[in-house]
Amino acid sequence: MDCLFCKIASGSIPVTHLFETDQLLAFPDINPQAPTHILIIPKLHFSSLAHTTSEQAGLLGQLLTAAAEIAQQQQLAAGYRLVINTGPDGGQTVGHLHVHLLGGRHMSWPPG
Ligand code: 5GP
Ligand code: ZN
Repeated sequence: MDCLFCKIASGSIPVTHLFETDQLLAFPDINPQAPTHILIIPKLHFSSLAHTTSEQAGLLGQLLTAAAEIAQQQQLAAGYRLVINTGPDGGQTVGHLHVHLLGGRHMSWPPG
């Protein structure tokens, strides 16, 4: 499958591995929107959050606990934001499920 994040997960496109388990990989976003901007992906391909079911509950839980662990490693004690853009209205541009971990500055609300 011609999927950018599958290529990153398989190592055919090299990235800095900030966190890795058998099922997950975290790497820096190429176009950071905050001093810390990390993407956390499952190594298995899911096109978006909308393409998961309760069968993926464990994997989705791992994405969140990994995000909290990475935030601690990145010294984001002042806080951070997790974002899962989903589908066209959600602003998703890469069709492989990913969690954005943003930190190092104050985040405004509501998002654009
Ligand atoms: P989305 O808009 O789908 O929520 O997020 C996709 C993210 O992937 C964007 O923040 C974009 O900067 C990032 N991105 C796109 N291509 C690459 C790439 O080749 N390498 C990395 N590290 N990030 C990418
Ligand atoms: Zn993929």
